[in-house]
Amino acid sequence: MRPFVVQLALHFKLNGWINNTTDGVHIEFNGTEYQANQFLDRIISAPPPFALIRKYTLFKTDNKLFDSFEIIESDVNSIPDLLLTPDFGLCFECRTELHSVSNRRFHYPFITCTNCGPRFSITKKLPYDRLNTSMKNFSICDTCSHEYSTVSDRRFYSQTNSCHKCSISMKLFENGKETETLNPEMILEIIQQFLKEGKIVSVKGVGGYVLLCDATISSSIQLLRKRKQRQAKPFALLFHSVEQMKTFVEWSESEKKCLQSSVAPILLLKSKKNSELAIDDIAPGLSHLGCMLPNSPLLELIAESFNKPLICTSANISESPILFRDIDALTHLHHIADIILSHNREIVAAQDDSVIKFARYSNQKIIIRRARGLAPNFLGYIQNQDKSILATGALMKSSFTFQTRQKTFVSQYLGSTGTIEAQEMYRNSLKNLTDLLQFKPEKIVSDNHPDYFSTQLAKEISTIHAIPFNQVQHHKAHFAAVLAEHSLLDSHESILGVIWDGTGIGDDAQIWGSEFFKFENNSMLRCYHFDYFPQVLYDKMSREPRLSAMAICDDVLGSDTLLKEKFTDVEWSYYKKLLGTGTKINCCSLGRVFDAVASLLGLSDKQSYEGEAAMLLQDLAEKYTDEYGYDIGESYFMEGAHYYRISTSSLFSSIIRDIHKNKTNSFIAAKFHFSLVHLVEIIAGNIGVKKVAFSGGVFQNSLLVDMLQQLLQKKLELFFHDQLPPNDENISFGQMVYVDRQIDSSLIIDLNDVRNHVTIEQPENQLLITEKDKF
Ligand SMILES: [Zn+2]
Ligand SMILES: [Zn+2]
Repeated sequence: MRPFVVQLALHFKLNGWINNTTDGVHIEFNGTEYQANQFLDRIISAPPPFALIRKYTLFKTDNKLFDSFEIIESDVNSIPDLLLTPDFGLCFECRTELHSVSNRRFHYPFITCTNCGPRFSITKKLPYDRLNTSMKNFSICDTCSHEYSTVSDRRFYSQTNSCHKCSISMKLFENGKETETLNPEMILEIIQQFLKEGKIVSVKGVGGYVLLCDATISSSIQLLRKRKQRQAKPFALLFHSVEQMKTFVEWSESEKKCLQSSVAPILLLKSKKNSELAIDDIAPGLSHLGCMLPNSPLLELIAESFNKPLICTSANISESPILFRDIDALTHLHHIADIILSHNREIVAAQDDSVIKFARYSNQKIIIRRARGLAPNFLGYIQNQDKSILATGALMKSSFTFQTRQKTFVSQYLGSTGTIEAQEMYRNSLKNLTDLLQFKPEKIVSDNHPDYFSTQLAKEISTIHAIPFNQVQHHKAHFAAVLAEHSLLDSHESILGVIWDGTGIGDDAQIWGSEFFKFENNSMLRCYHFDYFPQVLYDKMSREPRLSAMAICDDVLGSDTLLKEKFTDVEWSYYKKLLGTGTKINCCSLGRVFDAVASLLGLSDKQSYEGEAAMLLQDLAEKYTDEYGYDIGESYFMEGAHYYRISTSSLFSSIIRDIHKNKTNSFIAAKFHFSLVHLVEIIAGNIGVKKVAFSGGVFQNSLLVDMLQQLLQKKLELFFHDQLPPNDENISFGQMVYVDRQIDSSLIIDLNDVRNHVTIEQPENQLLITEKDKF
């Protein structure tokens, strides 16, 4: 912002000064009222690409006379009241200079300018000035210094300025030991050599270390899988250019723009049939590939010289967080990587790559993972109370949110907090961000699951700071998140919330995950959910889709012949006995319903990563919808006036009947998706709403999103997440909103109680839901 304002002041021939403070930019200058208004208009109407002006004021000051326009020292004494700048991917100009032989930064792996380079990942203190970042320890050469102080230069006031002469330096480590001192060109040549030999290379990236290997050599990828203990979870691919990528995947204009944006995310794109890539090793069984362009000059140089697609994945072991400290990387990575390329610019905030996809027909953006380039600012939420609130999120796909001084921050993706390493990462990230913004919580909120790390941490903080501690039900937090994202909290119309996901503990101590809520007058009411089915062996059921199928189909005629072969005799009788004795916990998770359908259709009985079965089911359904379109014409749900319950076992009876009738698997998968859309339509009709908001991990399913949009958007107004992922990464934001807005959900209608008094008749061919309450 500062360089831009100085250039503009010179253009308008104004004298004065600008500084960066912890509450924003201050400018003082001499000029007439007319000039002042023009100057202001120009600043706010066309600010520099990454500047975001949220508030401004213009007023007259005492008479002072200036004889030039200058940038003055930052004022560091006030409390930070700023948004944080995310990291920016390599810009077009820097990329051109990087490859231009005559440029003084030709092949300089850390080229940056005011439009690109690391920001959040290197910031230790605010305001954002070199002395407050990891660049502090690098002296600046005369030429760089000249650029820094030349108003007309692209690097005027660039805090990350460096070049070959005042370089950030690289080092190579092999077998845990540093190699002899080498110049940068030699280091990059050795990296090329290793990649060409099919070896695994680790490189220090912007938010942490990454692992690279040749994406065309099956044995290299398999070796990486083995060393990383990552069985089948897809890997992302790094391409040096969109031209290179074009041979392997398809994209739309929005997708191309997103790939080339400053976020430089991993984008999930439909793969073309192409034999050169080892697809079955990269993303087994899936039709989409995670693709990215180099987000840093160092990766650009490596990808450009290699000239073939590379596997590029966060360097971590199994499910633990990305390694970002040199000491940790050197300790743990020499078991995985054959060579490690490190450098001496410290990473302060660890971040994975962001992952995004677009629903193909509706073009709805779906953020799968929100991290580098996107976190931690959140825009558009208007704080209700003047209390600072910290919300600690859920378990898997964790994040935290805090709001203070009318600003909301949602942390980067922090992984599953099931391991000690992940918990440490969470604590560090929380400390880093709260220190940066000098945030002190006055209220704290967590999930209501007692065993989550995030719940325990919230209790701990509440005790230490002696502040009130609240808990919010998981799916209500999801609903609050999507309502807040679309500013629907003050809506005068009732809104239906369709909240479908994997697991979350409900108000009745059962596992929820297929909720229909109605929101009106600041209160949430749970109206419908799928019928409960037994939860077998806790977490084992979410890992083994065959167990979901068995539990749901326990009483469903014709299911045993399909399911028994998935188990040994001993397993079968053991699980049958478990189901017979009645489990204490019941579940209505739609994630498990997807798993069960996938298992029945022979796609997945044991998952090697979370969401695998659901992704395979979506892919299978797309084989049908690609050919015949979204309107399948028949649904597993019955048209009807008023329903009060959704029978899970009837749904499965109907699916099993289709299987026995030899309907194709892809048809059944597509019909299942279509039926869910139909169900949303039925329930919206029953409740009498025109607005429907969606949240929960199930809405990472882009086919479902496309079908909802295409089939319902003429009848209903639909709201999907836009800034946040639909999965549990949005829980912390929803929790904060729920408490900030004091949403009420005390009005409970006990559907279980109603159910016990109703006899259900099952029509032959359709899912039954019996007429009952109107809401
Ligand atoms: Zn640049
Ligand atoms: Zn220099």
